[in-house]
Amino acid sequence: MKTIGMLGGMSWESTAHYYRLINEGIKEALGGLHSGKILLHSVDFAEIEQLQHQGKWDQAGQVLANAARSLELAGADGVMICTNTMHKVAPVVEQALSIPLLHIADATAQALVKAGVSKVGLMGTAFTMEQDFYKGRLVEKYALDVLIPDDLQRTVVHDIIYNELCLGSIQDASRQAYIDIIHNLTEQGAKAIILGCTEIGLLVQQEHVATPLFDTTAIHAAEVVRWMLESN
Ligand code: GLU
Repeated sequence: MKTIGMLGGMSWESTAHYYRLINEGIKEALGGLHSGKILLHSVDFAEIEQLQHQGKWDQAGQVLANAARSLELAGADGVMICTNTMHKVAPVVEQALSIPLLHIADATAQALVKAGVSKVGLMGTAFTMEQDFYKGRLVEKYALDVLIPDDLQRTVVHDIIYNELCLGSIQDASRQAYIDIIHNLTEQGAKAIILGCTEIGLLVQQEHVATPLFDTTAIHAAEVVRWMLESN
């Protein structure tokens, strides 16, 4: 089994979920007492969040590149960034490594293509919904047609992530707001919805809506498990 290096803590609420999903995936594949070979570098999210909202992405990139390098030096065979948003600095992280970075958007896009979905709604932080590092990759590399919520709805989605989900607060009213936005994207033609923030799956699950949900945390974790178990 390969060792995965997790860059986590963004937020730790979703990192804890990732940790469980990876171990469950390994247990399901290998049985018995098997569990994942995992190294975790967990940052202080308050520092990262401040850099994000001040637009200091170079500095945030350096923090993650250094952390990724420490995972490689500690013996990781590959690295995953346990957040969609921080894939904005994925190129800097990749440059710091001589081992692979398992990209969350690639895993997600491949799952969509495999399911035959070409028009998809994207929900995540404003950075993820609005900037090219994520949406652009889906469009250019995988020819997906990506719909995002309108201005007002994007603010709602973004604020709930930072003010509630990353703090471990799960509110019925916020779930309803997300469900309404999912319905709206579906009415506009989305055949599936990308839960493009690693905490959204803690709030909204498939049982809440009819439109197929592609939860990036679950997809990323499953792809990492597959990679950990494939032979070199
Ligand atoms: N975990 C979230 C994501 O997947 C948001 C937190 C962050 O800004 O990294 O985008």
